Amino acid sequence: MTYIIGLTGGIGSGKSTIADLFAELGVPIVDADVVAREVVAPGSPLLAQIAEHFGQQVITAEGGLDRAALRQIVFADKDKTEWLNQLLHPVIRQRMLRQLQQQTALYVLWVVPLLIENKLTEYCDRVLVVDVSEAIQLQRAVRRDNSNIQQIKKIMQAQVSRQQRLAKADDVINNDRPLSESEKDLRAQVLQLHQYYLALAGKKHE
Ligand code: ATP
Repeated sequence: MTYIIGLTGGIGSGKSTIADLFAELGVPIVDADVVAREVVAPGSPLLAQIAEHFGQQVITAEGGLDRAALRQIVFADKDKTEWLNQLLHPVIRQRMLRQLQQQTALYVLWVVPLLIENKLTEYCDRVLVVDVSEAIQLQRAVRRDNSNIQQIKKIMQAQVSRQQRLAKADDVINNDRPLSESEKDLRAQVLQLHQYYLALAGKKHE
C-alpha cells in the first residue's frame, strides 16, 4: 500500500496552495473536496436520493446539485444535516480509501480539511499540518469566500483548535507570511518534505 501523507489545516489555512506545490513535484493528490463533489455528480445515485429527500429545488437547471439551495435547507437544522452526513460521509470515505489504495506512486498526499475531526488520521502514515495564526486565517478566508467574519468564525469553531491540530501533526508548514515573501521558502520546505517522504515510503516498501 502506498505511503499516505494526510494534509490538513483549518479553513483558509492554505491546504490547496501547499498541495499544488506537491503536485508540481509529481505527487499524486487525493482531495476530499473533489471526492465530495464526485459522489453527487449529475446522474449519480446519491444526487437522486438527495433530490428525493429535499425536493427538486436542490437541483440546478443543468441537473447538478444546487449547493447554495441545499445549504439553505439544511442550515441550522441538525436533523437534516445529520441525514445528509449519514448519506454522504460513508460513500465519500469509501471512495477516498479506494483512490488511495489504487495509487502506484511511492506516496500520496491526501488533502482532507476535517482529517482530525473525522478521525481519519488512523489511515495516515504521517500527518502534515498547514498552520496559520487565527487572525490570518480569518482574514484570508473572509477575503476568498466573500463571507462575513461571523460566518467564518462559526466554521472555525466547528473545527478543532489550532493547538489540537498541531498536537496531531508529524510535520508542520507555517503559512503566515504573504506568498509574495514566502513562496520561495515554501517551495524549499515542500521539496525537503518530498525527499523525506520518498525516503520514508521507500523504507516501508523494503
Ligand atoms: P479551504 O479549506 O477553506 O478551502 P485551504 O486551506 O485550501 O482552504 P487555500 O485555498 O490554499 O486554503 O488558501 C486560502 C486563501 O488564502 C486563498 O485565497 C489563497 O490564495 C490565499 N493564500 C494562501 N496562502 C497564502 C499566503 N501565504 N499569502 C497570501 N494568501 C494566501
